[in-house]
Amino acid sequence: MKSGFDRIGDTVSVESAKRSCLDKIAYPSKNKARDRATKLAQQHPDSRPQRPYRCTLCHKFHLTSKDGGRPSDEPKGGQHQ
Ligand SMILES: [Zn+2]
Repeated sequence: MKSGFDRIGDTVSVESAKRSCLDKIAYPSKNKARDRATKLAQQHPDSRPQRPYRCTLCHKFHLTSKDGGRPSDEPKGGQHQ
């Protein structure tokens, strides 16, 4: 069974690997990624908020501004509803 970067060119195309991983900054932990996302939100209040997700290729964390993606391993709706 392949995992991580071995999947590039196999179950993951090079292009999508670039988009979702290789072209992005990788953070070693979710907290670091979230820290960065918080700073970015302060510096660019008009841009979409970024959130960390665990990368299936490098197994580190990247930031995405996309909605509706897989929200990593955090359950939704922890805040007031
Ligand atoms: Zn990655």
